[in-house]
Amino acid sequence: MNEQLTFNNGVTMPALGLGVFQSSPEETVDAVDTALRGGYRLIDTAAAYFNEKQVGEGIRKSGVDRDEIFVETKVFISQFGYEETLHAFDVATAKLGLDTLDLFILHQPAPWIWDKTLEAYRALETLLEEGKVRSIGVSNFTPEHLDNLMQERTVVPALNQIELHPYFAQHENEAADTALGTITQAWSPIGGITFYPGFNEGGHKNPLTDTTIQAIGEKYGKTNAQVMIRWHLEQGRSAIPKSVKPARIAENFEVFDFELTPQDIAAIDALDLGKRSGPDPDAVRPPERIFDIPEA
Ligand code: NDP
Repeated sequence: MNEQLTFNNGVTMPALGLGVFQSSPEETVDAVDTALRGGYRLIDTAAAYFNEKQVGEGIRKSGVDRDEIFVETKVFISQFGYEETLHAFDVATAKLGLDTLDLFILHQPAPWIWDKTLEAYRALETLLEEGKVRSIGVSNFTPEHLDNLMQERTVVPALNQIELHPYFAQHENEAADTALGTITQAWSPIGGITFYPGFNEGGHKNPLTDTTIQAIGEKYGKTNAQVMIRWHLEQGRSAIPKSVKPARIAENFEVFDFELTPQDIAAIDALDLGKRSGPDPDAVRPPERIFDIPEA
């Protein structure tokens, strides 16, 4: 049984879901359909993934009731600002073919246009108040960004989605989330970012082939991916592994029939290299990487 996490506003979300970053539009429909038929009930997408339409198609293809599915999507920086973010909701829901969202989050802080980040969050608060979204949150927020946000805004984010895998465990960021009453959701939960071309130049240590994780998995007849997913779930985090391959989509969900020991968890915690593979949330994003989001 997929575990449920309860947000600070009482809304519940399945802990384990499917991510669709870098899933091409063609692959996304079937990935979402396969996942939902296989028992997944949480899908994480984003305006900037250019596949919200196909997520909606996958949901409808699966035949699973809309009310049973938790849909999460993100506002991109080019959509930051009060009116702009209200409009981003209309665009996202039109693409998804949904009236409401379960969770709408800011994709990242934009410290160089912090006022716009705050205005975008204020729009999320309005959408929440109007009942258009069931919960709101952020992504890639450091403890400092969370502090700065809470000095200006009132609704505590339900969730913060951050890079988090055995090689970058982010204990401090997770502790700050927890102290605020914010659920931490791991992106690249099985380490995808450590092996994508263009990231982690020169690093390329991949937890999917880590021998410590492998030895733990062998005790339970489980793969590295499955062990990492349990490592997240057993510590109260949400995880959204991405795959477009039916066998892997199924594999990543076959994690509810075993448990790690405290020693297993400590051994995985000890693998932390303290080194981010993805973008630094404080870095100014180059203008050429701030693209427009097409209308629905
Ligand atoms: P993941 O850690 O989920 O890894 C995905 C990669 O691993 C893909 O290359 C996938 O390939 C492969 N894979 C999946 N399952 C297995 C398996 N069981 N065995 C071996 N390989 C496997 O990385 P992501 O970066 O995709 O992160 C997950 C989700 O987090 C994203 O899809 C997105 O929704 C979100 N995200 C959010 C970000 C943010 O800034 N907020 C940034 C990055 C991600 P294949 O598809 O071929 O199976």
